[in-house]
Amino acid sequence: MNCPECQSSKLNIYDSRHIGDHVVRKRKCMACDERFYTIESYMSAEELEAIEAIRREQHDTGNENGSTITPDSNNGDADDT
Ligand SMILES: [Zn+2]
Repeated sequence: MNCPECQSSKLNIYDSRHIGDHVVRKRKCMACDERFYTIESYMSAEELEAIEAIRREQHDTGNENGSTITPDSNNGDADDT
């Protein structure tokens, strides 16, 4: 969980409350003072898999970082002395 404004991971939880089956937390970014909420709730394994599938699709279409690793990109040519 990072700040939606500045992507900082330094977040402070200053309130949390139960609303039905959910826990709502008030968070504040210590870097930029952005305040926002997060919600925790139950999730079935099927729901989690569906979300991860969507995330993978988004990552595939918009990969700016190019995190794909090709295993045969470096096959030992460091020995040219
Ligand atoms: Zn922030």
